[in-house]
Amino acid sequence: MRYTGPSCRQCRREGTKLFLKGPRCMTEKCAVERRGYAPGQHGQNAGRGRKASEYAKQLREKQKVKRIYGLTERQFRNTFDRISRESGVKGTNLVIALESRLDNIVFRMGFAASRKSARQLVRHGHVQVNGGKVDVPSFVVRPGHEVRVAPASREMIAVKLAQEFATRGTTMSWLSVDAEKASGRVTERPTRDAIPLNAQEQLIVELYSK
Ligand code: SF4
Repeated sequence: MRYTGPSCRQCRREGTKLFLKGPRCMTEKCAVERRGYAPGQHGQNAGRGRKASEYAKQLREKQKVKRIYGLTERQFRNTFDRISRESGVKGTNLVIALESRLDNIVFRMGFAASRKSARQLVRHGHVQVNGGKVDVPSFVVRPGHEVRVAPASREMIAVKLAQEFATRGTTMSWLSVDAEKASGRVTERPTRDAIPLNAQEQLIVELYSK
């Protein structure tokens, strides 16, 4: 099941900002800034005096990355199983597969303030790939694909907000973005270094390889 509770609680659980809420995450209202300890009754004591086991570290890392991309356990596991059949470094392939999801690309290009709202945009049929409607958030965007907000829907998305965030797309070497037209292209398969994700994906590979 997808987690539908408060987003900020997930960040506090992971002890780090997962940027799930868009603009709010950049302000001092961010719950990690205000209450930087785990949620719940024992949150302020959590982890004290205990050394996390290898398993616990692997599990936390997996939960963190899963939450960043807003996936269910099943979706996340399916993605891992898919990349396991590919050649190359599994951890890197996993991150690239997560980044290649259509909802993530819409977010990275700056057309939505969070991955959650990017997913809504896709689900509601406002996004096109190579000129055709694609309403499947997990659609794999490949180098050469053009992703855009459907012309008829452009007024609907908060254009100002989107443009405010458009800088995100232009800073990524593997994306070219035209914020005015709410359109962009994946120019190449990203390298791991070109993906701004603070994670130790090797721990996830170890967890799933047990
Ligand atoms: Fe996480 Fe954003 Fe909430 Fe901060 S404001 S806790 S980064 S979702």
